Amino acid sequence: MDENGAQGSMSAESMSAEPLVCVVCGATPPESGRYAALTSWSRGTADGRTTWTCERCSRENIRSIEAKLDTAWW
Ligand SMILES: [Zn+2]
Repeated sequence: MDENGAQGSMSAESMSAEPLVCVVCGATPPESGRYAALTSWSRGTADGRTTWTCERCSRENIRSIEAKLDTAWW
């Protein structure tokens, strides 16, 4: 008598379900490159929400930030 009616409901919920969208250019990483993007994209917060900047835009951002710093320095 083995009445095991409870089926193991697999919860295939991913740990981070937050959408990965570049705030600058709106790019989204491919499914296969999602994990790579999580590690290579720049993460920030704006208005209490998590924002992501793709590798390319963050690189350009750094340049513009440096340029801004240069002018704001004086
Ligand atoms: Zn971008």
